[in-house]
Amino acid sequence: MAVTYTYDDENIFAKILKGEIPCNEVYRDEYALAFHDIAPQAPTHILVIPTGKYVSIDDFGTNASAEEVTGFYKAVAKVAEQEGLTENGFRTIANTGDHGGQEVPHYHVHLLGGAKVGPMVMKAA
Ligand code: AMP
Repeated sequence: MAVTYTYDDENIFAKILKGEIPCNEVYRDEYALAFHDIAPQAPTHILVIPTGKYVSIDDFGTNASAEEVTGFYKAVAKVAEQEGLTENGFRTIANTGDHGGQEVPHYHVHLLGGAKVGPMVMKAA
């Protein structure tokens, strides 16, 4: 079944992209913005978000152009390298929707590292 994605222009990451609220930026290009998570869950916890208006990873994968998808994941790789995560490894997480525990409805990838990050996931109920 085709899903209709409705983007909320007032979500907190939209406001960060528009410069309406600050962030602790580590990287920015045409396709992506990366900044430190405000409530870090690991010694290094960075969020990478596309500059386009996509609600979730499935919205992004379905509706973003090939150029946007490539540009975004190239940026993820650059950020991981720049922040020293590639040497010892790191975890990427993309929470999606209600069951995925997504809080902010603008697609984002969490990069977590700087130490072992523990079990992949708690068992679902
Ligand atoms: P998620 O649950 O995957 O939607 O994750 C949203 C993440 O955004 C959480 O880890 C929050 O700590 C983080 N967050 C919320 N507001 C901000 C903000 N203003 N700056 C940086 N990170 C934020």
